[in-house]
Amino acid sequence: MSLSIKPVVLGVFPTPVVELHRLSAALGGPQIFMKRDDLTGLALGGNKTRKLTFILADALEQGCDTIITAGAAQSNHCRQTAAAAAQLGMECHLVLGGDKPDTANGNLLLDNLLGAKIHWSGVNRKGEDIPHIATALKEKGRKPYVVPYGGSNVHGAASFVHATNELAQQLDLNALTHVVFASSSGGTHAGLMLGKVLAAAPYQLVGIDIDKGVPGEMPFAEVVLDLANRTSEALEANVKFTTDDLILNDNYVGEGYGVIGELEKEAIELVARYEGVFLDPVYTGRAMGGLIDMIRKGQLTSAHNVLFWHTGGAPALFAYADALQ
Ligand SMILES: *Cc1c(COP(=O)(O)O)cnc(C)c1O
Repeated sequence: MSLSIKPVVLGVFPTPVVELHRLSAALGGPQIFMKRDDLTGLALGGNKTRKLTFILADALEQGCDTIITAGAAQSNHCRQTAAAAAQLGMECHLVLGGDKPDTANGNLLLDNLLGAKIHWSGVNRKGEDIPHIATALKEKGRKPYVVPYGGSNVHGAASFVHATNELAQQLDLNALTHVVFASSSGGTHAGLMLGKVLAAAPYQLVGIDIDKGVPGEMPFAEVVLDLANRTSEALEANVKFTTDDLILNDNYVGEGYGVIGELEKEAIELVARYEGVFLDPVYTGRAMGGLIDMIRKGQLTSAHNVLFWHTGGAPALFAYADALQ
């Protein structure tokens, strides 16, 4: 792989950068900017659109006609993958954790509208069932391409090196002290890490951990580090990361992935009411809740300039209506 791969056009870039004047004033801390990757323009948007522009370019180059990926029932990644496949005329298979619900809403409703073929995988929500589905599709004569959980491979991460360059065209990276975002499968984090070094940007890159680790699995920080190093190698960037280069704040995982508490609800309401912008319950609500908490604790003050990377996800709000009443 190299950066010579030409991304497919799936969305609308650059996404806007806005300043959150009213929220910043209300919190009385740093000036807060927002990178609006919720507006990537592919089927209600989100950070996976960026990854898919590179990943699906690779799939097309390999002559594949079918995409398989996996996620939670309310996966934004799966929704954007289904939309990208529809746009490119490819068949899309989604392997979703849990059991088929009585009513499909939020992202799952959209997956159905997009014509994705859904396989329910019970407790396996990270794609454990993909290999046998891929084998079955090959036996039927299809050419499947596997997009890993969250689109977090080297291609996906490389898209966030580009995203950093895009941001550098929009504001002076030297003026930022922190970039805060939700980190969950690692591709966004790995790409932003490499992008920051290549842009020689001074800000602290603060990933807010979304998912509780699973005992026995590789710790998430190591997953990010490994992907950042593999992406660096693939892009021949000559950057070697160590644990010291990584900030992963796991103070806000609460009861675990997709369990919504007061932290997320308050953050969603504040950003909606002060800025008219919707966060999502699983990722950006939690990451913004973390940012707000750090401001209230005095860890971030008016001496700082923070950019919050809005990675999308608002379609899941409808599926979490009960938790957000
Ligand atoms: C997938 C996702 C993230 C996390 O990005 P990763 O690259 O998987 O870490 C954050 N926010 C939203 C809304 C997402 O869908």
